[in-house]
Amino acid sequence: MPETRDGLDATNMTLAVSATGGPPGTLAPREDFPILTREINGHPLVYLDSAASSQKPEAVLEAMDHVYRHSNANIHRGVYTLSEESTRAYEGARRKIARFINARSAREVIYTRNTTEAINLVARTWVEANVCPGDVILTTEMEHHSNIVPWQLAATRTGARLDYVPVTDDGELDLAAYELLLEAARPKLVALTHMSNVLGTQPPVKAMIAQAHAVGALVLLDGAQSVPHMPVDVRELNCDFLAFSGHKMLGPTGIGALWGRAELLEAMPPFLGGGEMIREVHLSGSTWNDLPWKFEAGTSAYVEAAGLGAAVDYLSALGMERVQQHERELVTYALDRLAAVPELTIYGPPAERRGGVVSFTLGEIHPHDLATLLDREGIAIRAGHHCAQPLMERYHLPATARASFYVYTMAAEIDALAEALERAREVFAC
Ligand code: PMP
Repeated sequence: MPETRDGLDATNMTLAVSATGGPPGTLAPREDFPILTREINGHPLVYLDSAASSQKPEAVLEAMDHVYRHSNANIHRGVYTLSEESTRAYEGARRKIARFINARSAREVIYTRNTTEAINLVARTWVEANVCPGDVILTTEMEHHSNIVPWQLAATRTGARLDYVPVTDDGELDLAAYELLLEAARPKLVALTHMSNVLGTQPPVKAMIAQAHAVGALVLLDGAQSVPHMPVDVRELNCDFLAFSGHKMLGPTGIGALWGRAELLEAMPPFLGGGEMIREVHLSGSTWNDLPWKFEAGTSAYVEAAGLGAAVDYLSALGMERVQQHERELVTYALDRLAAVPELTIYGPPAERRGGVVSFTLGEIHPHDLATLLDREGIAIRAGHHCAQPLMERYHLPATARASFYVYTMAAEIDALAEALERAREVFAC
């Protein structure tokens, strides 16, 4: 394994996973991901922004290309061969997704554009049918904006109150406060992250779900950062809703999913109105289609659905336990390696309670300046508030830099990051 940045070679960056307990190599063959052969500013690309969006393997690109070239036609309504093939790809992908999260039935998987739309769907329809003035919705200070703003809008519409579980100085949810809030506020719904996109924190959601159920609350899990990175079993977790995005799990943009318990989805009013979601339309009124189509108005992203199905196949072949283990090894390596960079501050919990995300600041250097400088060396990290401004306010931070990992990441890239950060210190010191 190359020890230094010079050891990275854009054309051949596939390194075997260390069998000797050394630093981890890649889990997925890097040649499966065409973009990883790119050079940026004369350097091999080191892509450390998978928490924002993942790169795509050939299998996903081919699955979508295949639909466009061979079976493209609008789904469901056609009785001709192309439309039937397109429909089969779309519904087949839904079944794969259902199996991937261990749903009881594919009827419980609603295609959405992304996590954000999935959460908004619940915040509109379930809330509309179940939340009254004075009721409480509980979320946390650790959430992405897409698990805060829809509830703020819902609270305003319904006259409900929105409470927040605080976070501790160590970047974990304050579980004692959570218990007290559940007891005192008896919320109707708890909207909870399964993994923080800023701190990498993985709250103990299974226990938290049981506690919420004990006071009669339903639980929506924001799985944007969990479904791509660890085994997620909705029956084992016993959650009520789960939202996630295709583009963060090797799939394309424009497709994501909401999983919900069938009985809850059955009872919810529709979200968007239009074609597909109806059974009958009369001038006097309309009736709704069966699940899952009741929530899928208009022409769906059926090509993207086929791509997401291929992504699920790819991840399943790798094995989600191995994916989780790989990222745990990488984050353990990263916390250790980055701690050696002088003046670098890392935020969030220890490796055993976090996924493959590391947020940090380096002395007084603004994270945006840092990210810009690193880009000159081909290293892609994210800088900013990461759509989690309340969390930034909690730590009095305007922004952090963030490196995040996935199946194609290897320790040599973390070395490259650490070395570039050391050079950045020198640049900004003069
Ligand atoms: N929740 C979390 C924890 C996220 O990391 C993200 C994406 N950064 C989202 C929600 C929103 O995902 P999307 O933009 O795909 O809707």
